[in-house]
Amino acid sequence: MKRIQNTFLNLAIRMIGFGVLIGIVFPFFMLLLGVPQSIALSGLFLASCIIAGVLVGFVNILISRITVRSKLKVLTGKMLEVKDSIITISENGKIGDCNPEHCSIPIETDDEFGQSAQAFNELISSFASSLRMLDDIKTFTAIFSSQLNLHALSEYALDRVMNGTGADAGAILLEQDGEIVVLHSFGICEVKTLAEDPHVLRTFSKGESFSIIHPASIIVESTLTQFHPNEVIIEPVKFKSVPIAVILLAKAEHFQAENVRQLAIFTQSLAVALHNAMEHEQLQKLAALDPLTGVLNRRFGMVRLHEEYSRSVRRGSPLAVLMFDIDHFKQVNDTYGHVVGDRVLRNISGMIRQGIREGDILLRYGGEEFMVILPGASRDDAFTIAERVRHIVRENATTYGANQICVTISVGLDSMPETSINNEQELIANADEAMYRSKNSGRDKSTIY
Ligand code: GH3
Ligand code: MG
Ligand code: MG
Repeated sequence: MKRIQNTFLNLAIRMIGFGVLIGIVFPFFMLLLGVPQSIALSGLFLASCIIAGVLVGFVNILISRITVRSKLKVLTGKMLEVKDSIITISENGKIGDCNPEHCSIPIETDDEFGQSAQAFNELISSFASSLRMLDDIKTFTAIFSSQLNLHALSEYALDRVMNGTGADAGAILLEQDGEIVVLHSFGICEVKTLAEDPHVLRTFSKGESFSIIHPASIIVESTLTQFHPNEVIIEPVKFKSVPIAVILLAKAEHFQAENVRQLAIFTQSLAVALHNAMEHEQLQKLAALDPLTGVLNRRFGMVRLHEEYSRSVRRGSPLAVLMFDIDHFKQVNDTYGHVVGDRVLRNISGMIRQGIREGDILLRYGGEEFMVILPGASRDDAFTIAERVRHIVRENATTYGANQICVTISVGLDSMPETSINNEQELIANADEAMYRSKNSGRDKSTIY
C-alpha cells in the first residue's frame, strides 16, 4: 500500500513540476510566435500560464489516478480473496471459492494492465489446479490407507487414475510370488498378454516409465468398437525404490503432460497402500495355513466349513465331509523318527490334494488327521473321491534313503441332505464316527455314516 501511495505522490510532484515548467516556457513560445513582449512576458500572463500548467498537471493526476486505481483495486481485491481462500484451506482443509471462474480478472486492454491481469489469471488457474490435486491426493490417500483388500484397492486406484488422466483403458499389474499378475483392468483386450509385454517387464525390472506412441500390441475395447490407442503410458509403482506394481494407461488421444506429472504423485501414495495390502494378505494367508503341510489349519478350516454349511442350507445344495486318519502312523514315527514322519505327512497332504477337485477344501484337522469339505458333492460323489484318495495314498510311497515308506488311510464320510443335519459339528462327528468304523473293520477303508 505504501508503495502505491509513493507512486502517486511521485507522479503528482512530476506532473505539477512539469506543468510549472510548461507555464514558464510557454510565454517564450508566444514571443517566437510574434506576441508582443509586453504581453508575453507580463507578470499576469506568466502567472496565468503557470497556473494553467499546474491545473493541467493536477487534472492529469486525477485522470490517471481514477483510471489506474480502479484497475489496481480490482487486482488487490482479487488477491485478498485468494489470501482468504488460502487461510480457509489451512484452517479447515476446505477449498473455498478460489476457482478460476470466481477469482480471475477480466482482461479489457492489451497493455501492461491486460498483461498483469493475464498473469494473475494464469497464477490463479495453476493455484486452483494445485489445490484440486491436493484435494485428490488427500481423498485417495485417505481411501488407500484404509483399504487392505488388494482387489478392491486396485479397482478403486485404476478408476481414479483413469478419471484423472482421461485414459480410455488401463490395468494395474502386480508382482506376486515371482509372477506378474493383472490385478485389475478396464477396457484392454487380451489383458493377460500384458504380463509378458517387454515394456511392462522392463518397468518391473528397471523401474522405468514409458510413453509409447501408436503401440501395435495393445487394443482398447470400447462399448461399440475396438481401436488402437494413440498413446500408452506405463508407470512403475515403487515402494522403497523397488517397483512392486505397474500402471498401464491407454488413450485414444495423447496424454496431457500435467496429467502424467500427477500420475507420479498418485503412484507414491498407491505404493504404500499396495504394500500394506500385500503384507496384510500375506499375514492372513500365513495365519490360515498349517506350517508343516501348507494346507488350511483347523481354525480357518472350521471357518470355511461354517461358510459352506450356511451356503448349502441357504441354497439347499449338497455338502459332504471326509475325515482321513493315517493308519498306524505311530509306527512310522517309531521306526523312522519324527522328521521322516513329518515328511510322510507332507506327502500325504499332497496326495489328498491330487485326489480332490478344485474348490474342495482340504485342512489338517489334527496331528495325522485331515478333513476335506466337498461343496456340492452328493454322497456317491463323496464316496468316489474318498476311494480315489485312499488308492492314491496306498499306491504312493514316501522315499527315505533306500526305504519306501508305504502307509494307508482310513476314511469316514457323511453328507447332507442324505443325512439330516442340524449344524456343521454334526457332519464332523458323523464323518469321524464313520472313520472309526473303517479303523475297527480292518483300516484302509472308506465308510459312509
Ligand atoms: P491308528 O491306525 O489307530 O490311527 O494308529 P495311529 O498310530 O495312527 O494312532 P493315532 O492316530 O492315535 O496316532 C497318531 C500319531 O501321529 C501319534 C503322533 O506321534 C503322530 N503325530 C501326530 N502329529 C504329528 C506330527 O505333526 N508329526 C509327526 N511326525 N507325527 C505326528
Ligand atoms: Mg489319529
Ligand atoms: Mg492314525
